[in-house]
Amino acid sequence: MGVKVAKFGGSSLADAKQFEKVKKILLSDPDRHVVVPSAPGKRSPVDDKITDLFYECNRLAASGSAMDRVFDQIGARYREIAADLSLSTDLDTLLEEIRRDIQLGAGADYAASRGEYLNGILLADYLGWDFIDAKDGVFFDAEGRLDSERTQRELGALLRAHAYAVLPGFYGCDAHGKVKTFSRGGSDITGAIAARALDADVYENWTDVDGCMMADPRIVRNPEPIRYVTYQELRELSYMGASVLHEDAIFPVRLAGIPTNIRNTNKPEEPGTVIGYEAEEYESEYSITGIAGHKDFAIINVEKTMMNSELGFGRRVLQAIEEQGISFEHMPSGIDTMCIVVHEDAIAGKKEKLMARIHELCQPDTVEIHSGLALIATVGRGMVRAKGTSARLFNALDKAGINVRLIDQGSSEQNIIVGVDNLDFENATRAIYRAFVTKDQRR
Ligand code: ASP
Repeated sequence: MGVKVAKFGGSSLADAKQFEKVKKILLSDPDRHVVVPSAPGKRSPVDDKITDLFYECNRLAASGSAMDRVFDQIGARYREIAADLSLSTDLDTLLEEIRRDIQLGAGADYAASRGEYLNGILLADYLGWDFIDAKDGVFFDAEGRLDSERTQRELGALLRAHAYAVLPGFYGCDAHGKVKTFSRGGSDITGAIAARALDADVYENWTDVDGCMMADPRIVRNPEPIRYVTYQELRELSYMGASVLHEDAIFPVRLAGIPTNIRNTNKPEEPGTVIGYEAEEYESEYSITGIAGHKDFAIINVEKTMMNSELGFGRRVLQAIEEQGISFEHMPSGIDTMCIVVHEDAIAGKKEKLMARIHELCQPDTVEIHSGLALIATVGRGMVRAKGTSARLFNALDKAGINVRLIDQGSSEQNIIVGVDNLDFENATRAIYRAFVTKDQRR
């Protein structure tokens, strides 16, 4: 018998119908011992997220305005779920207590956390499982960072004391005993730390998509799902803009060697995407794992003849960048050129000063800043072994008439990054996708 921790996102628990799907999923596998719910999310694109409404209540209360209209909207959502599922939870008392606390200035974190708290209580009632308040098991230190050691110890003991439990996501307890939340989307983190605390076999993250896709569906129509991705690959893809999980939800499970399985609550028959450590058993049918990218980068190009033999040149260029408080993203370099890639907005208003400082410190032949660059990362653990990956990639871009302005292949050999004009971003992404992912490109 194994142990699974299952986190369900806001859209998976947005109304009674979704609650029913969640119950079915949970009860279909006795290994699912712990469930981590988010607050109810949107039921349609124009709907409100409960967390947003709670933040709004707090804002209104803090500015001395009446929050009743918004608070009643929140109450109505929970009451509807409870009524549709015939639950016996005393929502009136709970809601009144929360209304009073927010009005008395309990603060934004407390207010926002109540979305998960109430949803957790309703879900526990519906499942007949124990409710554990995350305030009793998730701890932050005096600096406001997660206290991993204490959480690991105390949450582990707490969860083990219950055969089946509901642990609301998104919040915990700060060093003064007050409720504190993670950043937005933080229920993912609670799920990951619960999985680690229990040394679970798998961390299931249930959402409303089939898993990670090989490319952004807003750019490539119906991209293929990724069946298996390593934590390292996912890091490279999410850095480049593919967003699946909260960034901080990766670390605890990766550290503990626990795989994460992204699943779709609305299609539980789909296997979803497994994010794991070792990928050996999962031979992908394509030689790449995914493509992700981002617009609005700039390249700082510094040229100097015989740069390679000048001691400290690179350090001085980076010093100039550091002095302006700019952090850089990549640094692909040639013999006599250094290219530093930065986010466009990181150098906004600083260009002149930066160029002047590089001139002063490094006496280069030229310094130029080129804006409007998009970066596209083609990521795949299989690249190391597959021959001709870069030839196929550049061929595809050439055929699509796209000018490549920068190439950077990380030393991990899992990632080839190309820089193209912002305007070519979508076409280049589609060209790369077609080159690697059409059915006849299977290995
Ligand atoms: N409910 C919180 C949010 O909307 C946390 C989460 O859903 O993960 O950000």
